[in-house]
Amino acid sequence: MNCPSVTQPAVLILLGPPGAGKGTQSRVLEKAFGLIQLSTGDMLRAAVKAGTPAGQAAQAVMETGGLVSDDIVLQVLAERMADPDTGRGVILDGFPRTAVQAFALDELLAARGQSVGAVISMEVDDDTMVARVSGRTTCTKCGEGYHDTLKRPAVAGVCDVCGGTDFLRRKDDNADTARQRLDTYHAQTAPLIGHYQRAGVLQRLDAMQDIAAVSRELERMVGSIVRSRAP
Ligand code: AMP
Repeated sequence: MNCPSVTQPAVLILLGPPGAGKGTQSRVLEKAFGLIQLSTGDMLRAAVKAGTPAGQAAQAVMETGGLVSDDIVLQVLAERMADPDTGRGVILDGFPRTAVQAFALDELLAARGQSVGAVISMEVDDDTMVARVSGRTTCTKCGEGYHDTLKRPAVAGVCDVCGGTDFLRRKDDNADTARQRLDTYHAQTAPLIGHYQRAGVLQRLDAMQDIAAVSRELERMVGSIVRSRAP
């Protein structure tokens, strides 16, 4: 696939409930457009694993499906945004999740002379979301995502991408916690759809389609956003 150059850094947000496919599709977009995926969930899991103060504070909340405090999330995001590779353009996956985070993002970007370029709302119904999340696993070596029924590796137990044989099932990827995460999403994150619609940057995507169809549609949407920012 061609890799169009991103001369003005695009800041894209994939907004949607857990199980909408934000992580899977962010990785597709990363490869297609040379953008950088910024997943606050991945950053927080890394902090938990490393036992940092932020990770210690976040762990219990993450396991029960609530939201980690805005202060902690903004701290880990700002640290990552300070890395020079983010100047190539970013896909925010799982951030912002609250109104406070959305406003803080605007401030962070304004300080860099940037703004949110587009927000793609990935729409999935609640039962599908719970079914998707409950069967997820991830290759521990390369991060490729799989699902017990919807996306199995070609050879059972072997990652298609890197040949790894160790797969992780997240502690919060079970039906009970998924329902809690969904309630959290509806209460705190879904209102951002209206916020970004009013700001004129929202695009909607039917994320009930299969993975390949969603990828095609996203590549078309993001391609036109990236091209519109080229000089
Ligand atoms: P995710 O990998 O995006 O599904 O996130 C996993 C968990 O990390 C969530 O259920 C939250 O507990 C926490 N988390 C991730 N991103 C955020 C965020 N932007 N704000 C608050 N909590 C977050």
